[in-house]
Amino acid sequence: MGSQEVSTVDWQGKRVTVAGLGVSGIPAARALHERGALVTVVNDGDDARARTQAAELEALGITVRLGDGATLPPSTELVVTAPGWQPDKPLFLAAAEAGVPVWGDVELAWRLRGDNGRKAAPWLAVTGTNGKTTTVRMLASILEAAGLRTAAVGNIGVSLLDAVLGETEYDVLAVELSSYQLHWAPSLRAHSAAVLNLAPDHLDWHGSMEAYAADKGRVYEGNTVACVYNVSDPATEDLVREADVEEGCRAIGFTLGAPGPSQLGVVDGILVDRAFVANRQKQAQELSEVSDVNPPAPHNIANALAAAALARAFGVEPAAVRDGLRAFRPDAHRIEHVADIGEVAYVDDSKATNTHATEASLAAYDSIVWIAGGLAKGATFDELVTGAAKRLRGVVLMGADRALIHEALTRHAPEVPVVDLERTDTGAMSEAVARAAELARPGDTVLLAPACASMDMFTNYNKRGEAFADAVRARADESA
Ligand code: ADP
Repeated sequence: MGSQEVSTVDWQGKRVTVAGLGVSGIPAARALHERGALVTVVNDGDDARARTQAAELEALGITVRLGDGATLPPSTELVVTAPGWQPDKPLFLAAAEAGVPVWGDVELAWRLRGDNGRKAAPWLAVTGTNGKTTTVRMLASILEAAGLRTAAVGNIGVSLLDAVLGETEYDVLAVELSSYQLHWAPSLRAHSAAVLNLAPDHLDWHGSMEAYAADKGRVYEGNTVACVYNVSDPATEDLVREADVEEGCRAIGFTLGAPGPSQLGVVDGILVDRAFVANRQKQAQELSEVSDVNPPAPHNIANALAAAALARAFGVEPAAVRDGLRAFRPDAHRIEHVADIGEVAYVDDSKATNTHATEASLAAYDSIVWIAGGLAKGATFDELVTGAAKRLRGVVLMGADRALIHEALTRHAPEVPVVDLERTDTGAMSEAVARAAELARPGDTVLLAPACASMDMFTNYNKRGEAFADAVRARADESA
C-alpha cells in the first residue's frame, strides 16, 4: 500500500486509553467511542473543571479515571496521548513494557483521515524551532490564492482531528507540527514537509538536542514529493539525508542568497524558484518580489521561501505564490509595526520568546533600541548580544532574569547604554517605552523582542505585546 493511502482500523471493541482530558483528549475520546472503541480516559488532575468534563464523557458511556494518569488500565490495546505528556511518564513505560503502541493527536488524525467517507486530503507539513505558524499561514494563503480548498491546522491552534473528521472537504491541508506532536506520530507520511530551522528548545522534554532533532526529522519520513530544508542551517539538511522517503522524493533547499539547482532563493530582490522548473540547470522561475513578503525581514523571507517551496511541490503556479504572499497578514505580536512617532518606528515582537527568534528580529533593523527581559528558561545571551551589539542604540531591560542579559551586555557591548527597570507592576511597560523613546534617535526602531517568556510579569506573550502597543499608542496620541 502506498504511504498516502488511507488505512482502516477496526475500532469495534478495541480497548483504548486516552491520556489527558484536554483540547486533544476530549475530541479523541469522543471520536473513538463513536467508532465503537471501549475508551478509558486517564487524567492526572481532579479539579472541578476535570470533573465537569468527565461527567460529560461518562454520560456518553466513556470511562474516566481522574487523579491518576500514571497507571495503565488493564487490557489496554492502544494509548492515545495529549502531545505535551512527557515520554518518560510511568504510563508510557508501562505501555512499552506491555508492547502497547502510543499515538499522539496527530497520529490519530492521520489514521482517521478519510474514515468519514470524505476525501483524505494530503498534508503539507511544517516544523522548526521558529517561524512555524507564520510559514503555515503563508502556505495556506498561497494555496487559497491557487483556488484550492485548504486550512491552516495543527499546532497553530486548530485541531487536526476536527479538520479530518469535520464537514468541510479539503484538497490539501497546511499543517503545523510541534516536536512533541512529531514524537508521537510514527506513521505520519506527509506529501511534502519543511524543517525551517533547528535551535535548542524544549530540551527538558526531549532529553537532549539529538532527541529533539530526531523528533523534528520525523516530519520528512515517507514524504512523496519534496523534503524542504534550510540551506543556512545544515542540521535541517542532515535530517533530510537521514529520512526514509518515497522513491522520487526530492531534497529542496531554500536560501536568502542566489539559489543553486533544486533550491529556491533570492536574486535582485526577487524570490526565484530553481527547483520546480523544467530545466533547473539553466532556468529559474520568478515567483514574487521580496517586497510582497510581509514584513520583508530576512527570517520572514526565509519563511516565505519555505512556504513557496511546499506550494510549488504541490503544483501551485507562480502567480498564486505571489498573490498568496501579498494577501498574507502576519499574526499579532510577530514583528508587528505599531506606530511611528517622531521618525522612530515602534515594533512589537512579543512572540520572540527565545534567543533564536530574537536574533532574527534584531537582524531585521539597522539601529535599535531593544526592550528585552522576562523568564530566560535557562538560556544564555552572550551570542545574541555579540551578534547585535553594533546595531544597538540602547537597551531597556525588565523582568525576572534581566540581570542575565545585563551581564552579557556588560561583557560584549559595554558602550551601549542600558536602562535597568526594577518595577514589575502594570505601569512597567509604559515606563519601558518612555525610557526607550528617550534613547531613540530619528530613523531608529524601538523593538520589543524579549528573548524570554512573559509569565513573570504578564499572563502570556499576547498580553505583553498588548501592554507595549497600548503604551506606544498612548504616546502617539499625545504627540499627535
Ligand atoms: P512558531 O510557530 O514556530 O513559534 P512564529 O511564526 O509564531 O513561530 O514566530 C515566532 C517568533 O519567531 C517570532 O517572534 C519571530 O520573530 C521569530 N521567527 C519567525 N520566523 C523565524 C525564522 N525563520 N527564524 C528565526 N526566527 C523566526
